[in-house]
Formats: sequence, C-alpha cells, structure tokens
Amino acid sequence: MKVHEFQARELLIDAGVPVPPGRMIESIEDAAGVYKAIAAEAGTTLAVVKAQVHAGGRGKAGFVKLVNSPDEATEAARFMLTHKMVSPQTPPDGLEVAKLLIAAGVDIAKEYYLAITTDRATRRNVLIASAEGGVEIEKVAAENPDAILKEPIHPLMGLQPHQARRVAFQLGFVGKQVNQAVKIMLALSDAYQRLDCSLAEINPLIVTTKNDSHPDGQALAIDAKFNFDDNALFRQKKVAGMFDPAEENPMELRAQRIGLNYIALDGDIGCLVNGAGLAMSTMDIIKHHGGEPANFLDVGGSATEEAVTEAFRIILSDDNVKGVLVNIFGGIMRCDVIAQAIVNAAKEVGFDVPLVVRLEGTNVEEGRRILDAAKGDIPTMQSATDLGDAAKKVTDAVASTRQTS
Ligand code: GDP
Ligand code: MN
Repeated sequence: MKVHEFQARELLIDAGVPVPPGRMIESIEDAAGVYKAIAAEAGTTLAVVKAQVHAGGRGKAGFVKLVNSPDEATEAARFMLTHKMVSPQTPPDGLEVAKLLIAAGVDIAKEYYLAITTDRATRRNVLIASAEGGVEIEKVAAENPDAILKEPIHPLMGLQPHQARRVAFQLGFVGKQVNQAVKIMLALSDAYQRLDCSLAEINPLIVTTKNDSHPDGQALAIDAKFNFDDNALFRQKKVAGMFDPAEENPMELRAQRIGLNYIALDGDIGCLVNGAGLAMSTMDIIKHHGGEPANFLDVGGSATEEAVTEAFRIILSDDNVKGVLVNIFGGIMRCDVIAQAIVNAAKEVGFDVPLVVRLEGTNVEEGRRILDAAKGDIPTMQSATDLGDAAKKVTDAVASTRQTS
C-alpha cells in the first residue's frame, strides 16, 4: 500500500523528523486561505503547492510550484486540479489530481537523498543515501552509482548511531548539520521497522541556507514517500486508515472487495484462472502464442459462484478485453461452479468477445455438461483440451477479430 506525501509527512512528524508546516486541500477555493495560514505560521511568503498522487516526478511535470502570494497559490491549485499529471511514473495519459499539499517554502542550500528499503541480496534492510539528491536521483543511480551509499542494517540491533554518523560525514554534512542528519536517519530507520514499510524515502532531505537562527542551516525533509507491506496492515491501524481508494484501479478494488486477486495489465486477453502459479503460466503461454494478457484474475480455491460471476463482470467491463481465456485446474475449486458462473455472466452481461474455456479437475464432467447445455446461448464460446490449445485458440480468435474490425 502507498500513501500520499501529506500522510507520509504526518508519519515523519510522529517519528520526530522535522518537516515544514503544510496542509492538504481538495478545492481551488481553499488554496488562498490555507496559503495565508501556512505563511503566517512559518513567517515567510514562500510556499509550495504540490500535487498529491501516488506517483513521483511531480517537480519536472510542473506539479510542484513555488508561490509567493494567495493569488499565485490559487492559480497553481487551479492548474493542478484541472490538468492530468504526466510523468515517467504515471500511465501515458496521466493521472487526475484530487488533492494538493500547500507547505511552507524553504530556501535550499543543498538537496540529499535518504531511504530505507529491504535489500534481498543481503537479506537485510539497508540505508541508501546520496549527496546528489533531488529530482535527478534516477539519473544519478543509472550514471553515477558510486555517488549512492549503502549501509546495511542489522536485523536485531537496527541502524547504529556510529553508522549514521559515518554516512553523515560521507555525505558532507558539517557542524550542527551532522547531528540533525543522524537523528533523521535513525528516526527514518525506526519508522521503517515499526510501521512495516517496504520503502521509506526522503527525497530531498535538504539543508536550508544559513541564517541568524540557524547559523549552520537546518536539515529538513521536504518530500517523503512511504510504501507498506500489505500483509502487515492488520496491525498498522493508523497506516491502514490512510488508504485512498481514489488512487487505486477501480477494477482491482472491486475484485479486492470480494476477496479475488485482480491485477490490470496492458494487453487484450482477459484471464480467469485459479491459483497464482497457474495464472503466471497462463500469461506465459498466452505470450508464447503472440497474445498479450489484459489482466491476471485469480479466483483462488474457495470463491463462490457469485464471486466468480462478479469476476466475469469485472473482466467484461474492461473495454480493452477482446477475448477471454478461462483456465481452471479444479482442486478445491469445483469446475461446475466455474461453469455455472460462465452461464450466469453470459445471461447477465453476454460474451460479445471470443471465450475459450479449459476445465480440468474436480467435477469436470458436471462442468462440461452445464456448458454444453448453454452452448446455444454463448455462441462465442469454444472449449479447449489443454492449456496450449486454449492459449492458441484465444490468441487466434482475438487476432481474427482484430483483422475484421
Ligand atoms: P517530486 O518531483 O515528485 O519528487 O517532488 P518534490 O517534492 O521532491 O519536489 C521537487 C523539487 O522541487 C525538489 O527537489 C526541490 O528542488 C523543489 N522544491 C520543493 N519544495 C521546495 C521548497 O520549499 N523550496 C524550494 N526552493 N524548492 C522546493
Ligand atoms: Mn521528491
């Protein structure tokens, strides 16, 4: 699960990491008032208006804007709430923006990168840091990997102060900045562990320009990204409460609600399968025959007839789907349940697109009998003898509809 920046900031504040004051808004009308409140609280006229979407690259896309007056804040809010944001991390046609963060602006002397994640190679969590932080961090990682420091974290002892100090010196922090940076690293590492994160990232961590109240500058987090392990959400009530359904694929949500596993993909063949392993091999074999899966829908072992019918409704509601492949190897899942769900979906929604069904396993005779009886009502249906045959039939059928349309 992902959260928005304004929520990640809340978690940083809980952890003791300093962040400039900010507030989330959802309408253009609120921009001026919130700008004034934030400016008054921070004692500056500089503020930053930032799109809140589950994708990065906002700065380069024009969705992080520095503003100096209520009118500029309103204009920035108007732009962001009425345009889709397109960045390398969004779908090609972009993402709608429904929420904005207005935060106090800061004068930046230098930007750093700081993150904790899990390193599968060493089977440990790892602190990743760079003095080349900011919007070019992907480029730094690709072109100058030596500029990225990695510090493994002991699974029982956690990040040690001496490690954080070494990293702070390597990053070039000086004077009072060192202890501020160390404190932030330790707090981030602690939050990562405590909140069951899969990623806790501050980019950029900045040092402000020096002034009278902070003669060495001040270390602050001005952007944060947290991802969480979904399997731990049951014990992370605060994090779970931050879930924003508006940021999720609506079809994935629909499937989740009835306990099915649905993942949207880019192709045009809808797949209804039982078991993740069978789903993977089904996708492989579709690709082997030149097709592209439109999704991965795993009905698992214990789905009811109603849930499987809903699964077909979800697949058929996707305009990208030009053909459907049902590949069931019934163990706990019974083939007659699947067959009855196909008949229900045919009655309710109708299979306008080619449907190829391969059934094997528990109650397969009963399943075939149900489908045979309904054949007249489902003219686009073909049955297949095995997985290879099924994948070939569906890719051929989809290819021929493509030619005729
Ligand atoms: P991202 O592009 O989605 O990662 O959004 P960020 O929140 O990281 O902002 C992108 C860039 O905008 C940062 O790297 C900064 O250079 C700049 N920026 C963001 N907030 C401020 C601010 O308060 N003051 C200044 N001067 N620059 C900022
Ligand atoms: Mn950033």
